[in-house]
Amino acid sequence: MNRGRFAPSPSGDLHVGNLRTAILAWIWAHATGRSFVIRVEDIDRVRPGAAERQLADLAAIGLDWDGPVLYQSTRAQAHEDAVANLTERGMLFECYCSRRDIREAASAPHILPGHYPGTCLNLSEAERAHKRAKLAAQGRGPALRLLAPVNEWTIHDELHGSVTGPVDHVVVRRGDGTPAYNLAVVVDDAFQGVDQVVRGDDLLSQAPAQACLASLLGLPEPTFVHVPLALAPTGARLAKRDGAVTLTDLHGLGWSTGDVVDWIGQSLGVDGARKSTGRSTRTASDLAKVLTVDRLRALPATPWIVTPPAEARP
Ligand code: GLU
Repeated sequence: MNRGRFAPSPSGDLHVGNLRTAILAWIWAHATGRSFVIRVEDIDRVRPGAAERQLADLAAIGLDWDGPVLYQSTRAQAHEDAVANLTERGMLFECYCSRRDIREAASAPHILPGHYPGTCLNLSEAERAHKRAKLAAQGRGPALRLLAPVNEWTIHDELHGSVTGPVDHVVVRRGDGTPAYNLAVVVDDAFQGVDQVVRGDDLLSQAPAQACLASLLGLPEPTFVHVPLALAPTGARLAKRDGAVTLTDLHGLGWSTGDVVDWIGQSLGVDGARKSTGRSTRTASDLAKVLTVDRLRALPATPWIVTPPAEARP
């Protein structure tokens, strides 16, 4: 079971950058002899109707997938089992910090930016009981963090090569009792037979911790492909507020779905195909014919700067 995947969070409509990543994941899977699955990561930030619209947009640009879509919220038992496994092996510790506590403590000069400052690592039982009671009084519980036996892990990425990064004390279960993204993604990729993870390079920094978690849970580590993100002209990550960047917005300006795929194709350097054949790349399959594995591996690491069209297409 060798599979690639796309795993959107149903927090809103997909924009052209997300669609480009999905196309790349689909092409990369097929070009390397894999099938392709979809997982809707609906354990956080769910907007009603968004998952259905995302799936419809993916189908509209020509993507298809093996078997039924997996909804991550149906996997709660498997996530709990993984947490129990790590707990029994003494690999987790309770963390009572709020986001603010962590922000404040993490600004100390000896803490790497974005890293857990270690506040709850070495507390006495009495201190734990006190902090637990304080949280309980606010109707909250502790989060569970990983006590990894190593500080760093090395992953293989098709575009970035060998990447060694910190494992840190990633959260595996949040204070509200729900599984954390980093745990769920690892457990569910393995469950779906995913051995190739193509996604935006904003998640590259999470990959070493995820691969380490997989290994600790006795699950295979996937190979990774972190592709460049789409950015707004300001240099910020592309977002819906930047203008007409979703399929629905662009349809509203008179673009066809084929026009949008063609635009994504141009961003991937397949404009030449149109010039030589006179034919535009109108669906994901058209792009797949041009984007061989060698071409994919040579993709520049630079982001796609998206200038949303301001006016209706003539
Ligand atoms: N669900 C995540 C997102 O939409 C992606 C997770 C992943 O690809 O590992 O940002």
